[in-house]
Amino acid sequence: NQGPVITIDGPSGAGKGTVSQLIAEKLGWHILDSGALYRLLALAVSHHGMSADDVETLKVLAEHLDIQFEPSEEGKIEIILEGETVTQAIRTEEVGNCASKLAAIPEVREGLLLRQRAFSQAPGLVADGRDMGTVVFPSAQIKIFLTASAEERAQRRLQQLQQKGEAVNLKELVKSIKERDERDANRAIAPLVPAAGALVIDSTDLTIEQVVEMIFAETAKAG
Ligand code: C5P
Repeated sequence: NQGPVITIDGPSGAGKGTVSQLIAEKLGWHILDSGALYRLLALAVSHHGMSADDVETLKVLAEHLDIQFEPSEEGKIEIILEGETVTQAIRTEEVGNCASKLAAIPEVREGLLLRQRAFSQAPGLVADGRDMGTVVFPSAQIKIFLTASAEERAQRRLQQLQQKGEAVNLKELVKSIKERDERDANRAIAPLVPAAGALVIDSTDLTIEQVVEMIFAETAKAG
């Protein structure tokens, strides 16, 4: 018995990461940050100086990439790639963009599929990404599609980056977010769309707590 799954899909910056973490913590469930897997692959490809054209090699790399998610003392999760801590390094806009390019390659998605499914373990899993409800966990009990306007998502991202002391330009961010959305929504394989039966939540004018409440209400309804 692998336990129930809650899928939370949506565009970048909609708050999926924070919301997923809060829900997984409250329920005591496992968490899958599937975007991190695509980001890790992007980083590995750049470290190894690999070409994105050699799709069969990319698939093998996706299947065997040495990745560890380790809980740290502060209750955060440290992400380790081939022995190196890359928790921060994978969060840049540049890595996100490379990840989104790799994510459009069918062999890459195939290579990561079973690794993602392996996260489904008792007592339950909260899975965050783009195709969690449509492709990876189609029989999930609860499916959420979390979105927000591109401007709001850029604002939130701007705040995050400023807190880290990174210089950023709001216009550039909006442009980069819209480009990534376009690519994720229009690709031929596993495009970003709400799963059938998903509860769509627009978080533009909602707080994180309100979103979490709505998801718990949905969970209660599903029993
Ligand atoms: O969610 P995050 O911004 O970390 O994801 C980085 C990129 O990985 C996304 O822009 C998307 O192209 C890709 N991705 C995906 N499918 C997922 C999760 C992420 O294609 N389930």
